[in-house]
Amino acid sequence: MKNKTALITGITGQDGAYLSQLLLSKGYRVIGVTRDTSDFRLKNLSYLGISDKISYHKVNLLDLSNIIRIISKEKPDEIYHLAAQSSVGLSFEQPIGTLEFNIISTANLLEAVRIINPEIRFYNSSSSEMYGKVRREDLPVTERSVLHPVSPYSISKASAHWITINYREAYRLYSVCGILFNHESCLRGENFVTKKILNTAIKIKQGIATELKLGNLEIRRDWGYAPEFVKAMWLMLQQETPDDYIICSGESNSLNEFVSKVFEKLELDKEKYVKTDTLLHRPVELEVIYGDNSKAKNKLNWNYNINFDKLISLLVNDEQAYIEWVNKSKNF
Ligand code: NAP
Repeated sequence: MKNKTALITGITGQDGAYLSQLLLSKGYRVIGVTRDTSDFRLKNLSYLGISDKISYHKVNLLDLSNIIRIISKEKPDEIYHLAAQSSVGLSFEQPIGTLEFNIISTANLLEAVRIINPEIRFYNSSSSEMYGKVRREDLPVTERSVLHPVSPYSISKASAHWITINYREAYRLYSVCGILFNHESCLRGENFVTKKILNTAIKIKQGIATELKLGNLEIRRDWGYAPEFVKAMWLMLQQETPDDYIICSGESNSLNEFVSKVFEKLELDKEKYVKTDTLLHRPVELEVIYGDNSKAKNKLNWNYNINFDKLISLLVNDEQAYIEWVNKSKNF
């Protein structure tokens, strides 16, 4: 049987890098769609040692004709749509750009699949942020929970989510959504709070940073480990029937607990270094959210078993190795 071809948008991001690594290990030909192929953009793929194993295309995902050309040329079996303006905080600064890119890119890709080859399987990354204001009595969130998005980012993700389902229902495409809860790694973008905590805490330990400034420490989230989450994306495209799945750890912990565990692991006195600043609070913030991953575990056989302590330990170790690599590497 011929090896499959996967086209990944957002290949330079955290999930794009880990998913590429997974698909390459399964013998896929991986096509990366990116807005820029500079060394800096390919940093995550370089860190994993796979940047030269991928064919790249510079594509404007807002231009349907551009997408049609690439899909017609590369003939992928599977498309993983991961590209998005993915920061909730930034979406309050750039609401129009976030809505435009996250919604139109998804619609364009699905329209291209419908036109060129409806047999192509399509995965879209949706977000737990779509559930937004969940009442405590309605937790944990399941695939049937009501959406109540509270940021431009989550509104864009809710639209892309329903567009993906609509193409499945209207045109019978194999188009599915992974509803991802927060998942972390050393490849997380610099503007995310977990990366800031891990990176700054290690630099405090090394004597090159003196304090860690954070916003609301009371928020509670369901944090998971990114390299395990991409396995669920792949599984979703290997099923007999297309469906949507929540991908999460199933545990809820506060940001305060996250910080405490990181500082504890590094044997640092949290009270001495961590400061809070209300200027870092968001205009609207979800207080608590966590999900139910039983559908993914039962139907996809997604085998996730990393509890919060193990997660923090993995993240601290990975971040230490990553900082060492960045310091040694000439390009970054
Ligand atoms: P990420 O690290 O922020 O990566 C985002 C990717 O999208 C990057 O490759 C980025 O390209 C690309 N991108 C962003 N804006 C773009 C634009 N205007 N034009 C073209 N490309 C653009 O995100 P991630 O953590 O890997 O997440 C992957 C997907 O899962 C995203 O759709 C995100 O919304 C969703 N998700 C993530 C989480 C999470 O906890 N990580 C949770 C729920 C859902 P550049 O490198 O060129 O910037």
